[in-house]
Formats: sequence, C-alpha cells, structure tokens
Amino acid sequence: MRTWRRSLLLAALIALVCGPVRAQELKIFDAHLHYNQEPDPYYALDKVLDLFRRNGVTGILATSRPNKGTHQLVEAKAPGLWVVPFIRPYRVRADIQTWFGDPASFDLIEEEYKRGYYRGIGEFHLYGKSAFNPWVKKAVDFSVAHDLYLHAHCDEEALLILYEHNPRAKIVWAHTGFSVAPSRVAQLLEKYPALWGELSYRSGITDGGGTLSSDWRDLFARHSDRFLLGSDTWINERWASYADTMREYRGWLAQLPPDQARRIASGNAEHLFGPRPGE
Ligand SMILES: [Zn+2]
Repeated sequence: MRTWRRSLLLAALIALVCGPVRAQELKIFDAHLHYNQEPDPYYALDKVLDLFRRNGVTGILATSRPNKGTHQLVEAKAPGLWVVPFIRPYRVRADIQTWFGDPASFDLIEEEYKRGYYRGIGEFHLYGKSAFNPWVKKAVDFSVAHDLYLHAHCDEEALLILYEHNPRAKIVWAHTGFSVAPSRVAQLLEKYPALWGELSYRSGITDGGGTLSSDWRDLFARHSDRFLLGSDTWINERWASYADTMREYRGWLAQLPPDQARRIASGNAEHLFGPRPGE
C-alpha cells in the first residue's frame, strides 16, 4: 500500500476510535464566571484556581460582587490561566434591581475602569424598558468610548434598546436569551455583527439525554463563531457542580465538527479578547 494511502487509512482509524473531536482535551474559556464574596467566597482562591486546572479551563471572563474577587483573580497571575476582567456595576446583591437608575453604579464603573486592565462591563441585569434609563445609555456610551464589551443578562427588548443607545456597542448576551427561539437568535446575530451569545442556562441545546438538538446543530453550523461557554457561578451550588457543567459542555461539543467545537470552547474568546498573554 502506498504511504499516503496508509496514512489516510490511519487517520480514518484514529477518527473512528477517538470520535470527531477529543472533547476532553479541548481548552475551555469560561465566559461567565463570578467570584462573588459577600463577605467571603465559597471557595478560597487556590481552590478556585485548582478547579479551573482540573476542568481544562484555561481562560475566564472574570467578574464579581464586589469587584474585589476579580482583582484577586487578576493579581493571582496563575500560570496557564488567562483572566479577562469585566467591571461589575454592583456593590451588593440588591444593586441588581436598581443599578440602571442609580448614578452610583456609573461612578463605580468609572472608578473601577481606572485600574487599567478591564475589557468590559457586566454581567448586568436589564429587562424591557428599564434599558431606556439614561444611566444605562451612559454605560453603553462609556463602553464604546473605551472599547469595552458589555456582558448583558437581558431580554430581547432590552437588548434592542442597548443597540439603540449606541449601534457600535459590542455585546456578549448572557444566556443567549434563555429560551428565545433559535431562529430568532440567528436573526439577531445576522442583524448585529457585534453580538455574541453566551450559553449558560440556555435551554434547548440538547435533549434530555445529552444529544444535540437539530435546531442548535444548525445554528452552530451557521454561526459557530458567535458563541461562548459559561459556568455562571452566581450561587455556591454552581461552584459545587462546576465539573458537571463543564462535562455537559464537552458532551455536546464532541457531537460537533472539530472546528466548530474549538471555536465555541475557546477560539471565539481568543478572537474577541485575545491574544492570550505570552502568545
Ligand atoms: Zn451571571
């Protein structure tokens, strides 16, 4: 048998044995990470860093309430972990309900920004017409002026208002609308080139048995350059189940063509926020 035919056969055999992508080996960028501390974190910093290592998480979009947790993640300079810090406009949990009408949250954004290392603002919560609030517009305009991304947990109405405030906004849509129809998600991605969907708590990606749904397979086939993974460690239970969350992601990533899986796992984050330091 000629050498090239033999190597083709070998490649086919490897693909058969290993599956389309070795999902366990994919580097993951966690694009929805909260290291909240009210007043103490659920896990100490070294335990959190170890959890990332054990789960193949090599990058994080880091946020926290208060922002102290994010400072710690940045300052840890952990080997092999790329930290992309975002400013959270919250001091305490109750700010989730009021930040958009509170000038103090905008002061907090301006003050934190002076640290010089932030790449975005969020995650913040916003629903319906509350997005029309002038303090929201100020935050959106601030993000555009300083080339920052927004990490918005919002419904579709608020998302459209954010773009109305400033069409140059760059938005990572936390949870990708939770349950907004995949066909509508596709329309939004096509209408707004600077919109990316983060997939924590996003329903419908798989059936109950972990098989990728046809709607999402199609959506990824068309727009695999527009999605990011996230853990959303908003409550302690999410830290306790962190490994399960990552295992679930790897389960459906393995069902995608390798190039799509790599983009969603970390390639898109590198495109948005990269290059990784040292690369
Ligand atoms: Zn969150």
